[in-house]
Amino acid sequence: DHLRKLKMMKYFLLPSQLAFLCNFVLSKPVQVCPCSETALHVHFLHLAESEIAVHEGDILLRRGQRSAINCESCLWPKSQDGLVKVPVNISSDFSLTERSWIADALQEVSTLTCVKFVNRTTETDYVYVEHGCWSYFGKIGGRQAVGLMKNGCMDKGAIQHEMNHALGFIHEQARSDRDKFVKIVWEHIMAGNFGKVKSKNLGLPYDYSSVMHYGAYDFSSAPGKPTIVPIPNPSVPIGQREGLSNLDVAKINKLYKCNCCSSVLPKPKGSFSSVNYPSPYPNNSNCLWLIRIRQSKIFLQFETFDLQTSSDCSSDYIKVYNGNSKNSPVLLDKYCGKGPLPSVVASGSTMLVEFATDETVTATGFRASYSQRFKIQVPAPKDFERF
Ligand SMILES: [Zn+2]
Repeated sequence: DHLRKLKMMKYFLLPSQLAFLCNFVLSKPVQVCPCSETALHVHFLHLAESEIAVHEGDILLRRGQRSAINCESCLWPKSQDGLVKVPVNISSDFSLTERSWIADALQEVSTLTCVKFVNRTTETDYVYVEHGCWSYFGKIGGRQAVGLMKNGCMDKGAIQHEMNHALGFIHEQARSDRDKFVKIVWEHIMAGNFGKVKSKNLGLPYDYSSVMHYGAYDFSSAPGKPTIVPIPNPSVPIGQREGLSNLDVAKINKLYKCNCCSSVLPKPKGSFSSVNYPSPYPNNSNCLWLIRIRQSKIFLQFETFDLQTSSDCSSDYIKVYNGNSKNSPVLLDKYCGKGPLPSVVASGSTMLVEFATDETVTATGFRASYSQRFKIQVPAPKDFERF
C-alpha cells in the first residue's frame, strides 16, 4: 500500500503536471506554486529516489525508518550547558538577502528555545541548506539537507517549518488526535499526503496556528475546494507561515526538555505581565516575549512597573530589543525600580522584551500592553460607533 502511494505520488509529481496544476490553481503562469512543498520534491526524487522514501509531502525518511515518528534517537544532542546546538551550513547558491531571511528565521528559534542554530565548522552531523522545499525528519546523522527556496518556501514560517521537521516534528494535521480538530476532505485531495501518525503529542494541545499545519487548500484538486476543514468552526485560520506560534515554541522546548520561559505574541495588539502578577515574581527567572505583528511598527507601553532597585539594574531588570533576538539593537537598556517607564517603539514588526530576576528580593513586577504604532492614537471607526 505504501509503495502504491509512493508510485502515485511520483506520478503526481511529474513536472508537466505540476506546471499544469500551478497554472490551474492560480489561473496564471507562475514558476512555483503555493503547493511547492510537494512540488519541489520533483528535483530531489530525481536525484535520490533510490535511497529516500517520501512521507507527507515534504518530509523525507531513509527507507525503513517510518517508525522514526516517535523517535528519541533522532533528536539533536544536548550539551552540558543545556543547549541543543544544531550546526547549519547554507549553500553558497543563496543570495545575501536569502541568507539574511534564513538567518532571521533561525534566530527566532534560537532566541525562544534552547535549540541554537550555529554556523557549522567541523561538526559531523549538520544541516545543509540547499534549494528545494523539504526536510528529513529528525537528525539522521552526517550532512543532512534541508530544502528552501524563494517564491513559496522562504517565508519565515516556511523556513521554520522545514527546520522543525529536522528537529523531529511532524505536520500538525498528522497528529494522532487530529480527527477531533480537523476534517480531512479526501475527495478534494490530489495526493495521499494527509495520513495520521501515532505521534507523541507532548501533552500540548492541537494548534491551528502552528507553522507545521497545512493550509485549508493545500494539495486541493480544484480552486475553492478545501482539503482540511477545522471543526467545529470551519473559518479558523490554518496554515500560517509568518513565524512560530506560541505552541510551536512550547513544543520545541518540551521535546528538547528545555527550561525556557518564552512566549510569542502574534496578535496586532495585546498585553502581558510578569509571572504571578500582581503577586511577587519569582527569583532566578528569565522570561522573553517576542511581539511579532504584520507589517507595522510596534508601540509598547508599561502600565505598571515595580522591580527590585539595584545599581545599574544588575539584579532584576527589563530590557527591550528592536528585533527578534538579544543581538538586535537595544531600545530600552536594563531598567528597574518603580515606573513610570518611557514608551518604546520598534522600527519594524518584531520586538523582544526580556525580564530577568536574580536570586534575592522580588516585587509585584509589571504589566505591559502593545499595539500597532499609529492605531493607538486614532480610535478605530467601530469605537466611535459604539459611543
Ligand atoms: Zn512539511
